[in-house]
Amino acid sequence: MNVKVPDYILSIKPYEPGKPLEELEREYGVTDSIKLASNENPLGPSPKALAAMAKVMPTLHRYPDGGAFELTRALAQHLNVSTKQIVFGNGSDEIIGMLTRALLAPGDEAVLPQPSFLMYDIMVRCSGATPVYIPLKGLAIDLDGVLAAVTPKTRMVFINNPNNPTGTMITKSDMEPFLAKLPSNVTVVLDEAYIEFVQDDACAIGTDYVTNERLPVVVLRTFSKAYGLAGLRIGYGIMPAEISSLLNRVRQPFNVSSIAQAAAREAIGDTAFLEQTKALIHEGLLYLYDELQKRNITCFPTHSNFFLIDVKQDASVIFEKMLRQGVIVRAMNSYGFPHYIRINVGLPTENRRFIDALEKVL
Ligand code: PMP
Repeated sequence: MNVKVPDYILSIKPYEPGKPLEELEREYGVTDSIKLASNENPLGPSPKALAAMAKVMPTLHRYPDGGAFELTRALAQHLNVSTKQIVFGNGSDEIIGMLTRALLAPGDEAVLPQPSFLMYDIMVRCSGATPVYIPLKGLAIDLDGVLAAVTPKTRMVFINNPNNPTGTMITKSDMEPFLAKLPSNVTVVLDEAYIEFVQDDACAIGTDYVTNERLPVVVLRTFSKAYGLAGLRIGYGIMPAEISSLLNRVRQPFNVSSIAQAAAREAIGDTAFLEQTKALIHEGLLYLYDELQKRNITCFPTHSNFFLIDVKQDASVIFEKMLRQGVIVRAMNSYGFPHYIRINVGLPTENRRFIDALEKVL
């Protein structure tokens, strides 16, 4: 093939998603398998969201509302921000892509803690910009390291709070001096995909910083995790109106389906479901920490719905062995942790099955 491809596209390593259950059952001939690999909500979708989706079905011959008018209004009210500050995406993944497309060009630099969510790297490279990696300090994002990496070419900084895959959190008292020291021509992307799971009041909350006059701060949130709608693909960004108007230049006109808009609108108000989800995750975490400790297996406490476990051997081998037990986990080899696996909290029965399977394979 004689296709001319930019070098920066060839430099991209494709994202490897968690293995789907159907694929595991097909390949390994197992049934009744469980997946704890993609930080999904084990309870399923919010029942109110499901009902709203069913109601929209008869109107699917129409395009969705390209401006997501009703949903934007509902969310703006819920978050106490202006409707002009919100942009929805086909998952928050898409917002990452809109940001890099609108704000980065070849020659620009974007600073990325490493390891963190892999889509930052992919999207920065898609724009031909240069990712600059800052290793974690222990398991936490090294904010001083990020500041030290900022150069006149830096246009964007990604901070994931809590950080995927390590589950660490940034406090207000660490975030505020960090933001104050960043130059005002750098856009800070605070990805809060898991913020609903944080129990510590000291945690920085990105929406507190969006309206500052000096520095462009964009907060990313999603309906994929605590709201149980990962398969629907809807997330959003909260940002200064100047940035949202730029994103709307590069956004596809109908990027969020009418089903997703209807579901998200109901999910916002389904606080009972959100509380039930959080309680399930927090109880599940205590159970899992306790069972792992009883077996002398090292794990790293988290502020999210997932955490790392040190299996003290090649994690990809443990991943394979767990698959044979019908349990999908995530091996962290490609994140630079060759001995760690990551799991998310499941239903109580799934957590028990995970512990039994891990005990067997170790
Ligand atoms: N940010 C982080 C840190 C994530 O872990 C994920 C999902 N794995 C996303 C963003 C993207 O979520 P979605 O596109 O489903 O909204």
